[in-house]
Amino acid sequence: MNRRARSYPTDAFVDGEWIASATGRRFEVSNPATGKVIASVADCGADETRAAIEAAEKARYAWAARPAGERSKLLERWRDLLIQQSDDLAALLTAEMGKPLAEAKGEVLYGASYLDWFAAEAKRIYGDIIPSASPNNRIVVIKQPVGVCAAITPWNFPNAMLMRKVAAALAAGCTMVAKPAEDTPLSALAAAACAEEAGIPAGVFNVVPTSRAAEVGGELTSNPLIRKISFTGSTEVGKLLLRQSADTVKKVSMELGGNAPFIIFEDADLDAAINGLMVSKYRNAGQTCVCANRIIVHNSVMDEVALRFREQVAGLRVGPGDLPGSEVGPLINEEALAKTKRLVTTAIEAGAEILIGGRCHDAGPLFYAPTILKSVSADMDVAREEIFGPVAPLIGFQSEEEAIGVADETPFGLAAYFYTKDLGRAWRVAEALDYGMVGVNEGIVSSAAAPFGGVKQSGMGREGSRYGLDDYLEIKYMLMGGLTI
Ligand code: ADP
Repeated sequence: MNRRARSYPTDAFVDGEWIASATGRRFEVSNPATGKVIASVADCGADETRAAIEAAEKARYAWAARPAGERSKLLERWRDLLIQQSDDLAALLTAEMGKPLAEAKGEVLYGASYLDWFAAEAKRIYGDIIPSASPNNRIVVIKQPVGVCAAITPWNFPNAMLMRKVAAALAAGCTMVAKPAEDTPLSALAAAACAEEAGIPAGVFNVVPTSRAAEVGGELTSNPLIRKISFTGSTEVGKLLLRQSADTVKKVSMELGGNAPFIIFEDADLDAAINGLMVSKYRNAGQTCVCANRIIVHNSVMDEVALRFREQVAGLRVGPGDLPGSEVGPLINEEALAKTKRLVTTAIEAGAEILIGGRCHDAGPLFYAPTILKSVSADMDVAREEIFGPVAPLIGFQSEEEAIGVADETPFGLAAYFYTKDLGRAWRVAEALDYGMVGVNEGIVSSAAAPFGGVKQSGMGREGSRYGLDDYLEIKYMLMGGLTI
């Protein structure tokens, strides 16, 4: 039986109300697979953002004062609604973002898993009592919510990147104003509709969609009521937000760009390595910050790896995300396509060879064929920049030391992967790599239970896991005196 898909709001969500922008301005959202406009969304500016911040400030006292168990129950209700509505939310996500429906559904469930995780963590925000040097007093440490938080999220995971911020913030007792990416505001608004339905109180979670990111970002970073900003996106914008947040000394969490090495040692299980590489590279058409960006392969197995990898890539089904069986969708927009084309062209000019792909795909104007480049060297742009497209550059190496050197030769430090069957090497290389996350014989590392985050110019702070709550908590020390008589 064909069920009518649920429809979700397109206005901003401020203080528990769905509002148009004060000027009535709206912006269009289109489906990257077809170019068709699918929605027109309230276009917020600094005024609406300020109203949302003030609503979040007003709501934060009662929210923080609620027993953790109550906050936890509300987060669980929100989780249940995301799961119940996951088919509709996935269809919406695919329509605005382009990823295959199965991946979109996986993302919604992954987003819900952060609510699940932090609903439980909310009840475990422990303090400490520390013996004092004086018998007259005790040192007491409690953890309190930071206050009003801002979230600025990217288009590549429009549901999950938001959920892992808001789940932790609300669990800690903070309130939030979220600004989704202009290409994909609909999933954030749909998540807010579920929050409302779950009974999250007015003002606790607000969403201000906009086509004017700099204006809204300016308000979020300069308003003194915002005590913390959590950003996922490019290193360039992250640096700007850090600078802008300096004047009001905000706490910051930054999940920025990556340039993930994927090392295949000569002793690796090649079947496992290629399977890991396929999901790491071509999930979301290569548009994730933890995607394998440089495939660093021992020279003695290079030909074998190239052959087997090519075979698998040749079998990938490229097409619109809502086409059953589709595995690689479109790129998000023209700029993304232009960047992918530039990186492939400059690599070829510098001596790389195309093993497969290397061109646009006829599924639609924003599709790029899954591509493998051979004979890539570490100094090419395709190896130095974050590709964010379905292009896999293969780089050869001779020694373990050389592989680590190539892997670390980047200002980024988000995720790294390597495959080996040698236990000693597994520990040596995992400890040596200058990255926040390392997959050893695994091509995907993300889960709500694990700390996600990078080092160097990939950012600061961790999301998910028990550590993820710390980013939304302040430590307060209280000296309890007058104990002796
Ligand atoms: P990408 O290059 O992948 O689109 P961006 O860093 O540009 O990554 O985008 C991530 C998020 O940052 C999006 O929500 C986008 O709207 C937002 N953004 C971009 N520029 C600014 C800015 N000047 N101030 C605040 N947010 C911004």
